[in-house]
Amino acid sequence: MKKSGWTLLKDKKQDIEHFAKDYMDFISFAKTERRVVDYILNKLKDKKDFFIVNNRGKAIAIYRKGKRPLKDGIRFVAAHIDAPRIDLKPVSVYDDEQSKLALMETHYYGGIKKYQWVARPLSIIGTVVKEDGTSIEVEIGEDDQDPVFTFSDLLPHLARKVQYSKTLGEAIPAEKLDLLIGNYHEEKEKEDKEGFKIKEYILDLIRDKYGIEEEDFVSAELEVVPSGKAREVGFDRSMIGAYGHDDRICSFAAFRGILDAKEPIWPQVVLLFDKEEIGSDGNTGAASFFLEYATLKIMEHEGEDANALTLREVLFKSQAISADVSAAVNPEWKEVYELKNAPIMGNGIALLKYTGHGGKYGANDAHAEYVSKIRKIWNKNNVPWQPAELGKVDEGGGGTVAKFLSRSGIDTIDAGPALLGMHSPFEIVSKVDLYSSYLAYKVFFEEE
Ligand code: MN
Ligand code: MN
Repeated sequence: MKKSGWTLLKDKKQDIEHFAKDYMDFISFAKTERRVVDYILNKLKDKKDFFIVNNRGKAIAIYRKGKRPLKDGIRFVAAHIDAPRIDLKPVSVYDDEQSKLALMETHYYGGIKKYQWVARPLSIIGTVVKEDGTSIEVEIGEDDQDPVFTFSDLLPHLARKVQYSKTLGEAIPAEKLDLLIGNYHEEKEKEDKEGFKIKEYILDLIRDKYGIEEEDFVSAELEVVPSGKAREVGFDRSMIGAYGHDDRICSFAAFRGILDAKEPIWPQVVLLFDKEEIGSDGNTGAASFFLEYATLKIMEHEGEDANALTLREVLFKSQAISADVSAAVNPEWKEVYELKNAPIMGNGIALLKYTGHGGKYGANDAHAEYVSKIRKIWNKNNVPWQPAELGKVDEGGGGTVAKFLSRSGIDTIDAGPALLGMHSPFEIVSKVDLYSSYLAYKVFFEEE
């Protein structure tokens, strides 16, 4: 407790670096929820001892049999694979006659600080489903040869009234986040009696290159995300900066944990949900009955009598870690943390008995008996960990999928690495906190 993870794991430096490298490859690729599922399905292609329940390619349950029967309960590690981003609107492409620019209308997803997303290179990644049902995978902006897109910001010289006088939240209104996608035009086209042509020209390019028509944007999930790969941060290279650590870092650590766990005693499941960043609603979110459905499919797979009562009993006896990130102490903004209970970068996985806001509203609040069991497992296995809360009591707060697991009777606790700059386009994590999280989930799967 409250010791550096680097000290506790001083014999594991190579393992930490190898794990960090694998993670950086993953997080540089997995910039959408669908890509996380694709990555996992690909890794499990030749593995026989895993049973998968795939929810529309956007949420997934990965099951591994244990020595104990299902009726004794399952060990779940649950995380979410969606991340804050900016989506394209259904009717998106337009041009502006005065500026002669072509743009795309967008609608942000999840809690973003909009000012962080302007004036930086952005990629478009996602899926377009044509009317005939065929889907087209789109990725533009990730290859060095690709063009990128951007939200252009206003120059400081002219921002005095329309930006500087406003609050931070109001300075970039959502409807001004229109993605810059083109400018090419010829004078003769302008004079054409059909009028200004940049939009048609851009739509022709999109049609020729991707086979996508304007109406196809209606049945598309195209996500505007920060362009480029994960990077090591600091002279000491002790940290990783990337888009989407929240919560793909826990998804990756949990997945590797179940892959590497030795001689499973308990039946084990990694649950990866979509839609956490917008409240866990929708049929791929944790508030849906996907947990119940996946558990029933697992019971059926094991030839157990899967009915309403046996399902309830399995879940009631189960235990879970809700694997999600928390907020590391930021040296510039100490006033929002209560430092005795705030996670420190590099001190290992942060264990949160409860999340929520104010008087623990919206919190799962794990039972003392269950917290005791978890710290015992981690101490026994030399896992760097630290107790934590999310900021000062009345400062703000946040929730996780924990409450959606515990309502089925599952003992649940929150634990994950602490980040700097959570929800920003470049979130920072310590390599040793990443590795500690992997160890924490792995030994949870291994221990009695
Ligand atoms: Mn999260
Ligand atoms: Mn989040």
